[in-house]
Amino acid sequence: MIFELTILGCSSAIPIHNRFMSSQVLNVHGRLFLIDCAEGTQIRLAEYKISKNKIENILISHLHGDHIFGLPGLIGSMSMLGRTKPLDVYGPEGIESFLNNAFEISESFIGFELNIHVVRHSKYTKIIENEKVIVYSFPLKHRIAAVGYKIVEKDRLRNINPEMIEKYNLSYNQIQAAKYGNDINLTGGEVLKNADLTFSPKRKRSFAYCSDTIYDESIVPVVKKVDLLYHEATYMEHLKDKAKERFHSTTVDAAKIAQQAEVGKLIIGHYSSRYKDLNALLQEAKGVFERTELAIDGKRFTVKIPDNE
Ligand SMILES: [Zn+2]
Ligand SMILES: [Zn+2]
Repeated sequence: MIFELTILGCSSAIPIHNRFMSSQVLNVHGRLFLIDCAEGTQIRLAEYKISKNKIENILISHLHGDHIFGLPGLIGSMSMLGRTKPLDVYGPEGIESFLNNAFEISESFIGFELNIHVVRHSKYTKIIENEKVIVYSFPLKHRIAAVGYKIVEKDRLRNINPEMIEKYNLSYNQIQAAKYGNDINLTGGEVLKNADLTFSPKRKRSFAYCSDTIYDESIVPVVKKVDLLYHEATYMEHLKDKAKERFHSTTVDAAKIAQQAEVGKLIIGHYSSRYKDLNALLQEAKGVFERTELAIDGKRFTVKIPDNE
């Protein structure tokens, strides 16, 4: 059961040094979430052999161009390629008029059901729940309304002890009932307690996305102990004043959030075009939080099913 993030772009503002701008895909059990959609996103999707058609939800953090200018183009391509299944797009206020104006002015016809959801940017909110995942949005502090997203696996079913299946010759229906936490009544009247039949499900895997934002400790409880945290790090610490002025974060800011939230791994990205070589950014972040990696176009981060703790 896959839980994997692929970076499609990691640059801020402009595409440079072989880096496209913000866009990522999270694959949860084969369901794809596209997070931000900068110009060039569909080029990267094709390059990394990720099917546009498998994208079910698009989560937009904010309406700056380096996060959304690829969106009308991607949706237009989906329609031209004959998509029939619905697509859900989430983003802060303005997302609706941005898309509707783009389609209207360019006389683009979208041949499938496009559902645009405006996300409240001031409150931690559950925005999606299906049988696999729950998705939350939460406020970020940026120059315009911006939200982060947290995607968490749903509770898995209990794992059944195979020896017990054999010992009691359990039927398919009994096994399913046990996986859902029920006790089993055997034909002779004996009751098998669920706790004797099954093990606890594995810990749920999670990913949080924070871009773009100034250093903001109110993010910490929201992203507490996620397996993967993506946090923007537009600048190094020598430009911390500029970061503050522009409502962005530094490498140290991102690492401090990761450290306080005790995340499994920090991924930094949204680099300023002034940094061609990213190694200094990585080292600076690692100085605060060792388990840091760089977002690089094409890089994949897989979260394995954890052992029980
Ligand atoms: Zn940006
Ligand atoms: Zn921005």
